[in-house]
Amino acid sequence: MKHISEISIDEACGLRALLFDLDDTLLDHGKLTEAAYSALFRLKESGLVLVAVTGRPSGWAEILVRQWPIDGAVSENGAVLCSLVDGRLDIVADGADAARRSALLEVVATIRARHPELVPSDDVEARRTDFTFDVGEHDHVGATVVARVCATARALGARTTVSSVHLHVTLDGSDKASGALRFLSRCFGWDPTEAVNRAAFIGDSDNDEACFNAFRTTIAVANFRGRPTLAPRFSTSEAMGAGFAEAARAIVSRRNQGRNPSVANGQ
Ligand SMILES: [Mg+2]
Repeated sequence: MKHISEISIDEACGLRALLFDLDDTLLDHGKLTEAAYSALFRLKESGLVLVAVTGRPSGWAEILVRQWPIDGAVSENGAVLCSLVDGRLDIVADGADAARRSALLEVVATIRARHPELVPSDDVEARRTDFTFDVGEHDHVGATVVARVCATARALGARTTVSSVHLHVTLDGSDKASGALRFLSRCFGWDPTEAVNRAAFIGDSDNDEACFNAFRTTIAVANFRGRPTLAPRFSTSEAMGAGFAEAARAIVSRRNQGRNPSVANGQ
């Protein structure tokens, strides 16, 4: 991985969007710092489309798109798209029908019966398409147990995704990359080739794998704990929100240099 300060002027100026994970990327253990929040404004001023791409609930996304300087949110690991259209909330949740929810809750009941030590996450009521267990936010569940629960879920026909805080169980087929591409197509009309070349992604963990694989400009904050097969192209020195702000400064600086070559030449 190269340090984010090594991103070229051409690559930074070619970007039209920054997609970002929330937990342990923009947020520090769930908290939004002043530096990270300010960075969103600087990125927006630089002309970038900003989209949160998170495993967090669609109920959270509804608040974020109303309040933050962002263009939308892809939540529940790609299953739910959320934006404002003419100031009104626009939600796309194709996999949120009652029959699928009922089938999911049957799977969850079986998992809980086999793994009674698991605790649901405290944001589970704000979700439309998945069910989540707390494995690192307030409760800490070992990797062996997490792997066992994932195997149980998969044997029951469900998909699982693990972030630094949650274990997600879903019957939806989306992942963060497919959700982000659907969002960029729906809201901006970008085809997938344009989207993967013009949108950068910044994240920290295994549930970011699809985006690290899909997008050309990928950035890992210093606390990145993804599997070694993942290869984000850039990294930051700082962790979490400070790392996000560091990446934002580097991208905005390069874009400014591209617009004003005399800055790049040190004149
Ligand atoms: Mg994360």
